[in-house]
Amino acid sequence: MADRFPAILIQKDDDRGQRVETVALALDDLMEGDVVIRVSHSTINYKDGLAITGAAPVVRRWPMIPGIDFAGVVESSDNPEFKPGDQVVLNGWGVGETHYGGYAGKARVKGDWLIHLPAGLTAAQAMAIGTAGYTAMLSVLALERQGVTAERGPVVVTGAAGGVGSVAIAILSKLGYHVVAATGRLGEADYLKGLGAAEVIDRQELAGKPRPLNKERFAGGIDAVGSTTLANILSMTRYGGSVAACGLAGGMDLPTSVAPFILRGVSLIGIDSVMAPKARRIEAYDRLVRDLDQAKLAAMTRTIPLAEVVAVAPDILAGKVRGRIVVEVG
Ligand code: NDP
Repeated sequence: MADRFPAILIQKDDDRGQRVETVALALDDLMEGDVVIRVSHSTINYKDGLAITGAAPVVRRWPMIPGIDFAGVVESSDNPEFKPGDQVVLNGWGVGETHYGGYAGKARVKGDWLIHLPAGLTAAQAMAIGTAGYTAMLSVLALERQGVTAERGPVVVTGAAGGVGSVAIAILSKLGYHVVAATGRLGEADYLKGLGAAEVIDRQELAGKPRPLNKERFAGGIDAVGSTTLANILSMTRYGGSVAACGLAGGMDLPTSVAPFILRGVSLIGIDSVMAPKARRIEAYDRLVRDLDQAKLAAMTRTIPLAEVVAVAPDILAGKVRGRIVVEVG
């Protein structure tokens, strides 16, 4: 029927466990909210991979439409900030976890969760950035606030060939930083240099048993990996430097000591994109418009239809996805 739209739905039964299927829904099937959006684009983020495969308990309400971000056009609104025809973007707020998400032709959400599509970006570009790229920008902003300027020295980016890493490299290099890209995929060295990495190192260099302190190497870091990798970066951070921790692709633990903090004045900054206040989101998108080279964004992005999401989702957990994936929904 014409008023139905496709959606990916994750269901969970006690006996059969988790299963994912594509269904046709109507507006009445969606959860509560004061704005209805015709979704044009979503993306695949690491968290979407976890949700679709069930590898971690990302989904906390059943059934669930996954997709932690989307862009589209407002169809109807009871929120004074948005009117039909407005182009909007959503990242996080539990969408795709506790509230129906972006892998559906329509979404109904709280207007407070939306921002207007920034001037200078198309919906497809906003989703090429996606939550991964917006998190990369939040991380860059955090380093700037800590005074980690380009003149202070090299900045390491881990998970370099992934989504957060690729966008972080492109932004930092445009801002003049000397970027050290740490990757497990040395075959992607040309790709990473094309994004602006000055050096590409094997992630094994950051994988040994962490020592409390190591040779001072980096003025700062953006870490999407966590665990031993983050502990090693902290031990290698120069006096007064800062590291933004935004991910756990290598593990959730952190086997470090207080030595970098109390002997070198190193700062560890936590980055959360999901509940970040609206003003910080708008600041991040403004800076993405200014400081992310659109040609580099295009070079790190591939586009798939909604029908391929379930098949591609496991690849992101396996570290096989390079850069970003945009999902064409509508
Ligand atoms: P991707 O899968 O695109 O990138 C992760 C990268 O990490 C991989 O490409 C790989 O890079 C590296 N990696 C993967 N597995 C391991 C491992 N076992 N050990 C070391 N390195 C590994 O994911 P995203 O960029 O979308 O997300 C990255 C992380 O950031 C995730 O943990 C995600 O949950 C988190 N995140 C957090 C947000 C927040 O609000 N704090 C928001 C968005 C993402 P390479 O091949 O180059 O080594």
